[in-house]
Amino acid sequence: MSETPYPYEAPASQALFDRARAVTPGGVNSPVRAFRAVGGTPRFMVSGKGAYLTDADGREYVDLVCSWGPMILGHSHPEVIAAVHEAVARGTSFGTPGEGEVALAEEIVARVEPVQEVRLVSSGTEATMSAIRLARGFTRRSKVIKFAGCYHGHVDSLLAAAGSGVATFALPDTPGVTGAQAGDTIVLPYNDLEAVQEAFHRHPGEIACVITEASPGNMGVVPPDPGFNQGLRDACHKNGALYISDEVMTGFRTSRSGWYGVDGVVPDLMTFGKVMGGGFPAAAFGGRADVMAHLAPAGPVYQAGTLSGNPVATAAGLAQLRLLDDAAYDTVDAVSAQIRSLVTEALSKEGVAHRLQTASNMFSVFFTDRQVRDYEDAKRQDSFRFTAFFHSLLSNGVYLPPSSFESWFVSTAHDERAIQKIADALPAAARAAAEATA
Ligand code: PLP
Repeated sequence: MSETPYPYEAPASQALFDRARAVTPGGVNSPVRAFRAVGGTPRFMVSGKGAYLTDADGREYVDLVCSWGPMILGHSHPEVIAAVHEAVARGTSFGTPGEGEVALAEEIVARVEPVQEVRLVSSGTEATMSAIRLARGFTRRSKVIKFAGCYHGHVDSLLAAAGSGVATFALPDTPGVTGAQAGDTIVLPYNDLEAVQEAFHRHPGEIACVITEASPGNMGVVPPDPGFNQGLRDACHKNGALYISDEVMTGFRTSRSGWYGVDGVVPDLMTFGKVMGGGFPAAAFGGRADVMAHLAPAGPVYQAGTLSGNPVATAAGLAQLRLLDDAAYDTVDAVSAQIRSLVTEALSKEGVAHRLQTASNMFSVFFTDRQVRDYEDAKRQDSFRFTAFFHSLLSNGVYLPPSSFESWFVSTAHDERAIQKIADALPAAARAAAEATA
């Protein structure tokens, strides 16, 4: 039985959730999957094909999460699956170098000009953690600037609270992160170059790097103001720090060379994940050869991984990247534009105040009438409207991210039938959002 007041039930998912909660904290292996922000029963999915997911109750959903970004070709793409089968048949892990990881590294280097050398890892968290360590080792400095509302994985030093004001030392945002770990992190408001300059001024010779999402999608979609990323790079270089662009979410999604392909600002280091793994745990960090040369075994900064460059994950990632040509990005962009216009139309018709913000084919809806430029703006939205909107769509077979602070993701597999299903579900969802009360 569902324990929620929502007008539909998902008994098989609920039963699995009950079992999960008995053996796993909160019943999930990554917090946002638990539906805490929206309430209700998280859907336990059993299969995915193209634009669709099927849950344990046998219901089909148009998927606008795409595994939080990776599934840009849709689920179970035949060529990706074939590459995986072929790789699995040869063995699943060797703990030695292999050709697949060389080919994936070559593909990344070929696509993203600022990446002269790249190291493969298994998660975006590992990528950002390693990039920060490398930046500290290279510059021999300790402090890191990050922006409130940007997420870089659950790296201790990057889980610092969003301290308000300029250049405040952040307090740990979560028990388990020590003051020492968080104390070297300076949290600044996003899109605020003055705050960055002020921080460099206050801490001369202490700041190793600035890390930023290339175009943030983890507070909802909040693109950089024109010139912001370039300003960050300039401020870093003026002050002897490295500029790290986190493209775990945007990489190979917002263009064939990620957000770099959109704004052309050259970072010193970049991080990748999601799309480059084709649905498997593969991620990477890379950049300037002189910086990467500091990494073991070439240099003294240690970094390693038992499953790094895993042959199955690299085969999936490589197969996916090779399918992502200009035509594929044109399709993803067109699908995104179509869905955005349907959402705007439905919400406008019901008079619901909203801002639909985009970064290439990534987008999200904020239930507010003001532009969202930073995390404080993002928090000022009417989240209760999102909850009503979300549940109405879910009950009509459209699966959104279960939080208003997340980007929506589409794929080349979102065909006319999928878009029609979204179009059919939107009017009721917009009405639910209009009628929702706090
Ligand atoms: N960086 C960004 C921008 C992300 O969006 C994420 C995950 O959502 C990460 C890093 C962490 O990646 P992972 O979840 O693979 O550890």
